[in-house]
Amino acid sequence: MSNSFIVECLDCGNRSSFSIAQPACPACGSLWREARYDLNGLKNRLYDLVKQRPFDIWRYQELLPLSAPNRSISLGEGGTPLIHATNLGMMLGNPNLFIKDERQGPTASFKDRQASITVAALKEANIHEFVIASTGNVAISYSAYAARASIKLWAFLTSLVPAAKMREVAIYGTQVIKITGSYDQAKQVASDFARQRGLSIDLGARTLTCIESMKTIAYEVAEQLAHLQPSSSGPWRAPDWYIQAVSGGMGPIGVLKGFRELYDMGLIDKVPKIAAIQAEGCAPMVHAWKQNKDTATPVQHPQTLIATLATGNPGRTYSLLRQKMLENSGGTIESVSDAEAFRAMHYLAKMEGFSVEPAAAVAFAGLVKLVRNGVIAPHETVVINCTGHTMPIERNILGEGWSREVTLPSSMEEGNEEGLLAALTKVSVDRFPRIAIVDDNPDVRRLIRRILQTQGNYTLFEATNGREALTIAKNERPNLIILDLMMPEMDGFSVIQELEKDPETSQIPVIVVTAKELTPAEKDRLRGHIQTLMQKGDFLSDELLDEVRALLG
Ligand SMILES: *Cc1c(COP(=O)(O)O)cnc(C)c1O
Ligand SMILES: [Zn+2]
Repeated sequence: MSNSFIVECLDCGNRSSFSIAQPACPACGSLWREARYDLNGLKNRLYDLVKQRPFDIWRYQELLPLSAPNRSISLGEGGTPLIHATNLGMMLGNPNLFIKDERQGPTASFKDRQASITVAALKEANIHEFVIASTGNVAISYSAYAARASIKLWAFLTSLVPAAKMREVAIYGTQVIKITGSYDQAKQVASDFARQRGLSIDLGARTLTCIESMKTIAYEVAEQLAHLQPSSSGPWRAPDWYIQAVSGGMGPIGVLKGFRELYDMGLIDKVPKIAAIQAEGCAPMVHAWKQNKDTATPVQHPQTLIATLATGNPGRTYSLLRQKMLENSGGTIESVSDAEAFRAMHYLAKMEGFSVEPAAAVAFAGLVKLVRNGVIAPHETVVINCTGHTMPIERNILGEGWSREVTLPSSMEEGNEEGLLAALTKVSVDRFPRIAIVDDNPDVRRLIRRILQTQGNYTLFEATNGREALTIAKNERPNLIILDLMMPEMDGFSVIQELEKDPETSQIPVIVVTAKELTPAEKDRLRGHIQTLMQKGDFLSDELLDEVRALLG
């Protein structure tokens, strides 16, 4: 079947047909063009059409800028899971956080959408050679699809790209050209090279297939949320927020276009707000957004370790993103520090089981900032794009002391299992600090247990009410008690009183973790009797750990 879509020039309004071989507007030469589909014709059919198809990017073929889907180059792109982030949600006090796990694409980043659709368009146009500039992931993804489609690929990489990613590009047979300089400089060299040789090149937001591929994230999310949070408003469902770490800003432009198309077809009842998050040391869009300007001043020398996000000059992509945000539900553009992103990598891995690359962690650090600043409200549904996997484990992320070494005596070398076990048990003979977790809510106990487990060196006791807590305090002599206040039978206030009466337990430090806003009178009751007061839904794993470590001395 052939698709009916038309390409409209954003500068002169000219409407024409599309081939990736002729990227410029035939009337004015502009490269800023957008695909338009017959949304009216599709609106009553789309829901039933896609139902019968596999859950991957080709499911939405009527809304892709191709004359036909091309499964022959497919590596299983799209169709990534949307995962409820329950632990992160508990820590932040926001129960409706969902992670769109783009790490599960074939080359472990959301660039697989861009590369698969663009390579399919190159095949349709009979093009066998292509040029890209990249901060790493674009090159890896295009390399895989170019290999499958027998396209020669030239990749211009900034020298900031970690060596592990460079190797990944090279193994696919791509011609790697390393540019000692910034990403913006690498882009310039690549585009000069393409022009001189008359080759096609990926120009990010100006390459129409890129935006069109990114919008499939919106379609998938809308379908997945409808399953996870069924509602009566429209067959599919949009979140209140879509959060993504941005470099050039192409992802959110595409995602916004996708949600808008669904909205125009009546499949969702709103277009989400966008939160685009940049690294503080390279945040031209944040500066412009906060000053209400529609053009961004380029950052000449990005100061961030996160090479993936080092676009210093977003150019017109920023203006387009801002315009689309303002035309729809708005949102915000915010920045976080590298340190905040590295910290987010740790709690995501330890608390949700997601090992992500620093660039993806920027989105999560941004989420924390926006929730804490009250920009994102506790009841809102938030989808966070988990854009890429941890490929290179950089030294500055893991730090020292992440493993325990067991040195075996030489006699055990030939697989003496008993000896090995004995050596391993030696690791735990040191007396670990003992901590009692007291809470009637099993989810809270599980969360706190998990936070303490990530340190690996506490002996934990759990109590579900005040009486059990007192028994544990007497019999087990914990070094610390983490106590809930509101519990049936005997509440936290009474537990504290009883502990103080007994000289054997009166010296045990207490951290109160409460769901309740305390009245001044209640705060007075606690003052001098506990060491720390923390609010449920308002602390991250490492913040609790800092308190615990400080009290255990
Ligand atoms: C490309 C990339 C980004 C930034 O994407 P844009 O939408 O183009 O700004 C973020 N995270 C990862 C992992 C990426 O590969
Ligand atoms: Zn034009």
